[in-house]
Amino acid sequence: MADPTTSSPFDLVILGAGSGGYACALRASQLGLTVALVEEDKIGGTCLHRGCIPTKALLHAAELADGARVAASHGVLTSFEGIDTAALHARKDKVVAQLHRGLTGLIGQAGIEVVSGRGRLVDTSTVEVEGEGGTTRLSGRTVVLATGSYARTIPGVELGPRVMTSDRAMDLAEIPQRVAVLGGGVIGVEFASMLRSFGAEVTVVEALDRIVAAEEPSISKHLTREFKKRGITTLTSTRVASVEADEHRAVVHLEGADPLEVDLVMVAVGRGPRSEGIGLEEAGVTLERGFVPTDERLRTDVEGVRAVGDLVPGLQLAHRGFAHGIFVAEDVAGLDPRPVDDVTIPKVTYCDPEIASVGLSTEAAKGAGHDVETVTYPLGGNGRSIIRGTTGSVTLVRAKDGPVLGVHMVGLGVSELISEAQLVVGWEAHPEDVATLVHAHPTQGEALGEAAMLAAGRPLHAHA
Ligand code: NAD
Repeated sequence: MADPTTSSPFDLVILGAGSGGYACALRASQLGLTVALVEEDKIGGTCLHRGCIPTKALLHAAELADGARVAASHGVLTSFEGIDTAALHARKDKVVAQLHRGLTGLIGQAGIEVVSGRGRLVDTSTVEVEGEGGTTRLSGRTVVLATGSYARTIPGVELGPRVMTSDRAMDLAEIPQRVAVLGGGVIGVEFASMLRSFGAEVTVVEALDRIVAAEEPSISKHLTREFKKRGITTLTSTRVASVEADEHRAVVHLEGADPLEVDLVMVAVGRGPRSEGIGLEEAGVTLERGFVPTDERLRTDVEGVRAVGDLVPGLQLAHRGFAHGIFVAEDVAGLDPRPVDDVTIPKVTYCDPEIASVGLSTEAAKGAGHDVETVTYPLGGNGRSIIRGTTGSVTLVRAKDGPVLGVHMVGLGVSELISEAQLVVGWEAHPEDVATLVHAHPTQGEALGEAAMLAAGRPLHAHA
């Protein structure tokens, strides 16, 4: 068979149209670059179709379910009767479809050449795409790898009708009675929280000695306590020995703890890079445990090949992907943008209570050689938080006589406080500066202002 003809060169050929890939394509086209965007599934990737958006739609429903449970204690006569899964998924799918339509429209208007099919690097400047209409070869002055990540499983644990990762757990036809969530990281605690709100009995099994181990230890402690109050069991320092499952139920055998008999096992033990079978090693791109290492300008060790998003070691977050994509487009266009720094990327976990953090933890700040001061302002002193019925805290880590290095928050509603926290950390503001800014009353944001006042030695609703 004749070799497929190769396109005339695009400025960028992007492999993968998830957060990193499509952001790169949009920014590049704004800057006048020619772009081919290769995607084997739907534009929007994991975040839009199997991650951030659908799960947050479900978590919003979970919040409404809990609202219905407590409404009567606020004087509103209603009660929680159960979950209509068809309506639940219809609403979630509608949100996804609306965003997908908008995104597809944007990509179309930007004049980006979308090529459907599975792409593979055949040399350092050519991507071959196997699509329905046959094979195409796209030549790019720069090739951007943006193939993202997949949900890992535990070796020896087979997925099946009763054992699944987040990919399928977000489309459950019915709410299981008993669930074991394997992994107490971000996905684990979000699903545990959601399924509990929907009425399931949930046990989280975590190998490390605390859940959400990437956060401040005090946050792990608070979440564990609040989960317990909500009836969610957490087993830490507990390893999974094996899982037995059939069509109807599953048994999780644990090392040093009683087996868990459940209706659903949800595996949430991290996400791995999608770097296999796309010609990377053959083209000379170095892989490290499957990830694509890059320099700070997101260049791989092969001239003309960049990588963005979850493929690149570091935080696996959609907004990091957006930032990477924008950075590469601007760098290729010669704008000399500032590299993306993982430390100033905000992290939000949408369990109940929520977690939101940015910057260095106390330990990391000490490790970086700072003389550190940490203050904590409890949401128990914040009017709006009391009205909303949440406890929690805002912890501020500062360099002694210096800027705020990190902000770490837990409590219902703190996800929306992250914008101010990231400005404070990103702009290296001192608590003394933040303390003089007037925060609206009554808001949960006041807790950030109060934490800054406390760190500046002039607390209002707290003791120094
Ligand atoms: P994670 O790395 O956050 O957590 C995985 C957890 O599983 C870890 O705590 C690990 O110790 C534990 N674990 C691993 N093997 C285990 C075993 N055999 N038994 C018990 N525990 C085990 O990974 P995740 O929760 O799967 O999330 C994947 C990525 O997706 C993360 O980087 C996360 O930040 C990202 N994500 C972010 C959001 C958000 O921003 N809200 C939401 C979902 C996912």
